[in-house]
Amino acid sequence: MFTVKVTSSFIRFNTKVVHQSNNFIVTVATSLAVPKLLDYVLYVESKPVLGSFVAIEVGTKQVFGVVIKMQEVSSFLGDASKLKEAVLVDDVPAVSEQGLNFLRFSSRYTFALPGDPVRASLIAGKIPEQVEPDKKLVLGNVPLDKRTSTRDKVINVLTHSAHAFTSQAMLAEAAGVGVSVVKGLLIKGVLVWEEIPDVKPSFHIQLPDLNASQKASAAEIASALSLKKHQTFFLDGVMGSGKTEVYFDSIARLLEEDDTSQVLLLVPEIALTPQLVGRFEKRFGFIPTLWHSNLGEKARKRNWWHIAKGLSRVVIGARSALFLNYQNLRLIVVDEEHDSSYKQEEVFRYHGRDMAVTLGHFWKCPVVLCSATPSLETWNNVLLGRYKHLMLDGRYGNATLPHLKLVDMKESKVGKGDKWISAPIVQAIKERLEKGEQSLVFLNRRGVAPLLICGGCGDRVGCPSCDASLVVHKSYLICHHCGFHEEIPKKCPKCDSEKLRAFGPGTRKIKQELETYFPTARIAVADSDSVKTDRQMGDVVAKMEKGEIDILVGTQMVAKGHHFPELTFVGIIDGDMGLARGELRAAERTFQVLMQVAGRAGRAAKKGEVMIQTHDPNHPLFECLLQMDRDKFLKMELQSRKLWQDPPFKKQMAFIVSGKDERSVAFASKALANNFHISNAEVLGPAPAPLAKLRDQFRYRLLVKSGDKMHDAVQKWLGSTKIPSSVRVVVDVDPVSFY
Ligand SMILES: [Zn+2]
Ligand SMILES: [Zn+2]
Ligand SMILES: [Zn+2]
Repeated sequence: MFTVKVTSSFIRFNTKVVHQSNNFIVTVATSLAVPKLLDYVLYVESKPVLGSFVAIEVGTKQVFGVVIKMQEVSSFLGDASKLKEAVLVDDVPAVSEQGLNFLRFSSRYTFALPGDPVRASLIAGKIPEQVEPDKKLVLGNVPLDKRTSTRDKVINVLTHSAHAFTSQAMLAEAAGVGVSVVKGLLIKGVLVWEEIPDVKPSFHIQLPDLNASQKASAAEIASALSLKKHQTFFLDGVMGSGKTEVYFDSIARLLEEDDTSQVLLLVPEIALTPQLVGRFEKRFGFIPTLWHSNLGEKARKRNWWHIAKGLSRVVIGARSALFLNYQNLRLIVVDEEHDSSYKQEEVFRYHGRDMAVTLGHFWKCPVVLCSATPSLETWNNVLLGRYKHLMLDGRYGNATLPHLKLVDMKESKVGKGDKWISAPIVQAIKERLEKGEQSLVFLNRRGVAPLLICGGCGDRVGCPSCDASLVVHKSYLICHHCGFHEEIPKKCPKCDSEKLRAFGPGTRKIKQELETYFPTARIAVADSDSVKTDRQMGDVVAKMEKGEIDILVGTQMVAKGHHFPELTFVGIIDGDMGLARGELRAAERTFQVLMQVAGRAGRAAKKGEVMIQTHDPNHPLFECLLQMDRDKFLKMELQSRKLWQDPPFKKQMAFIVSGKDERSVAFASKALANNFHISNAEVLGPAPAPLAKLRDQFRYRLLVKSGDKMHDAVQKWLGSTKIPSSVRVVVDVDPVSFY
């Protein structure tokens, strides 16, 4: 009936074995999308703890939940006999008190369903079954009958590496031999499989000496760790200033001091993890527990249990790792805290960075936010003294400051004839090719081109269910909002003209354009269409390092974490990135990305050059960028936010009203606005959303701004406005996206 082993207290449903004195009414948050907490009755021998996992029936569905509240039957005011029965799942460690507080807070703060954080803490809404331990290759008892150089390599790697080789391919790759060599040794019994024991990892720490600013920062964190107090730090430093070594120092301290301690290291995207994990393993001698969406099913289940049982000491994960069942969380690190991918944009709309700070508050542990280009929210908290500023040395000295130049897209006729690379950038790449150096061409758009345009009627081909253009990918058209895809049509769906063409820059198109200028250059593309796994990213990095790529065309994923000494030129095709739309965080995001990409050029001995194509060369952010003056930009942007009373000076909540019938959506939106009476707050809208139709649902938006806490008032407002059942209202607290 259940996927877990339910042990001693297992009682089948509908078999009321009542031990009179020991029945409890439990209030359960379930993994199911139901709007409230549910009461059940639990028949048990001894009082279970809050946070216990239970199996329950909701309607005809059997689901899991977490006990949030509990009372004895004797004190229950309702009719306990009407309640359904819950069954204790007692082989799963209960959610800690801190974890329960976090579950409650995170759903309330985000206006999510009470069970949304519970679902986020499980796997596909379920407690996963326990998996067999992994096996690794070790030397067996059979001696080697004949030595060969390839066999020696395999044995050498096995004896000298602390790494657990869990597949033949993995060992073969590490030894630099074919898989057949490993297979042969296995058949002979020279190699055998051995179970990896389910225990805490042993570690041997090898940390480098820290410089003065790293030492001072590490000491601050260490002091918060030993006092077991919550303190949020902003660890500030450019790429290469050694932020990682600072929090590695804190991790080392915890591993040695407290053998039940757990550390959570949040990273924004999977593309970051391979290098980080490799570095971690080198320093600590074990592989950290990973948690992200690309994890295989078995690894995911095993890691879930390891974390819940306290066997995992260090977890490196994407934002959803916040909701796992930690037993003794002592430190949280948020890498690249400014990254907008920390915000979950559907169903359970939380901001991973903000939730990390809250989780640290409940666990009374330090939270370290790291960035070279902080979010305005974090920077403001630093200025207000709420977050402690830890500053690392290593700002760009004159020697490594890249030379920045703006290219006015209007003057250089970029876009004419569907050509997107300006002459100065072509010239700069040519010079690099002649010197045998590498170039990066950056744009924020994957695919062939953003639009398929008809030469007959001038229309763009749009998504049938969204108010959005379809994007050209190889031979397909794809909607980036709903996933709709179709083969590129031969004729215009509107006028039957055959003059359809892909228009606008995409990574593929830029590659083609580069090929016309540099037919013999080795050009590669790195975007989320071509690089989907750690391994593929690793391949690109390796090729860049070996000098097997002359020009790399890439999206934001190449802006991060990788250092290529021969890369001396960066050309940025779309330097505006939404500036023209005037979105709240457009300038902030543009500055962060450009600063990060610009930092790719010439970080080693060779001086780098960066060219940015823009329609808006007079935008003040470019002045700060040309001087690489981050603090000036932050100051300027904060002033503008203050002037407009935007976050972080006032809080925002967005309300997305949607439904199949546009008139009822518009009507409900107006009803909300008319019924708005929250003091010290203002409502903007309603207006049709920029993405006015999504998955066949019409969408309107309202935005509420307030200087005060407004959760209770908003709850009342929503509750007292009549909304037809065909219309949905979604709340997005502290919105990042405004589509
Ligand atoms: Zn696409
Ligand atoms: Zn047409
Ligand atoms: Zn669509």
